[in-house]
Amino acid sequence: MTAIRINLYSDTQSQPTSAMREAMAQATVGDEQHRLDPGVNQLCEDVAGLLGKEDAVFLPSGTMCNQIALAVHCTAGDEIIADRSAHIINSEAGGPASLAGSMVYPLEGKNGIFGPDDVRGAIRSASLHAPRSRLLVVEQTSNLGGGTVWPLAQLQAVAKTARAHDLSLHMDGARLMNAVIAAGVSAAEFSATVDSVWLDLSKGLGCPVGAVLAGSREFIHEVWRWKHRIGGAMRQAGIIAAAGSWALQHHVDRLAEDHDNARLLADRISALDGIQLINETVETNMVFFDVSQTPLSAPEISARLREKGIWIGAFGEQKMRAVTHLDVGREDIIEASDALAGILDD
Ligand SMILES: *Cc1c(COP(=O)(O)O)cnc(C)c1O
Repeated sequence: MTAIRINLYSDTQSQPTSAMREAMAQATVGDEQHRLDPGVNQLCEDVAGLLGKEDAVFLPSGTMCNQIALAVHCTAGDEIIADRSAHIINSEAGGPASLAGSMVYPLEGKNGIFGPDDVRGAIRSASLHAPRSRLLVVEQTSNLGGGTVWPLAQLQAVAKTARAHDLSLHMDGARLMNAVIAAGVSAAEFSATVDSVWLDLSKGLGCPVGAVLAGSREFIHEVWRWKHRIGGAMRQAGIIAAAGSWALQHHVDRLAEDHDNARLLADRISALDGIQLINETVETNMVFFDVSQTPLSAPEISARLREKGIWIGAFGEQKMRAVTHLDVGREDIIEASDALAGILDD
């Protein structure tokens, strides 16, 4: 198969830069699970500070951050409220059911964003017949919602409603820093609306692996028990934490370029016959588009692009998603959109 030259499949696809690899090679390391790795300790302190929380813990993946957080917040038989597009519902292999032992009540938000009335409508009565509503989960940005940003006021409004009903709040911040750059709101302001929050180092920030989960000291203490339980406690993890610290210093402001590139791609492909943008606004680094009005299916288009060394994922028969990141430049966007035009013209 042709080598992939332009990888728009996901922002998880970026390669660590040589400067990042250099920082990793230089890391002084120790035993992470005995809190003896200086680089991990520093990264956790920095992220806790960035997110305005008391403490933080380094974990291998965002999925593990979500699943541990849900398991700490909930007990078996509880109910979690989240948008139906949420990663915890669609892409974590049934984790909420199997690890937290909890049900998820899916909300019909718009582009992954919902309001206080939706939350109010989902909260169970105190009846002993009902599960106990326990936790509200928000995804910043909403991935399947189209990379949409939760506006701060909207987050504050749903948080107020949730708290009035004694719910805790958790933020899946896989792309929180994209929201920070797009909205010009600090990570701490967004995070102040929730009890627990994490950010992914291996998405737009460009690291090979890792995520950091933050919350109160008490919450993080319980997180550590789960980290040991499910094998997320590590050893000389400073090698990978060094990538995270490098990324937080060098790869945050540049997310604006990814957003510009996503908008450029959206502008160029929406001009093509039969291509319809799904998320018209393109707020961050994702472009979802519908190809049902073209002669080809989404998997067919994806396969033709792959022959040209370009990877854009198909979501079912009609939808496609392109995601920009630090290995995708403006010229790649132009080449990819021209290639798509060529395929549709054939
Ligand atoms: C990627 C992603 C996750 C999971 O992160 P991993 O590091 O891949 O486990 C969780 N939530 C959202 C919204 C994501 O996009």
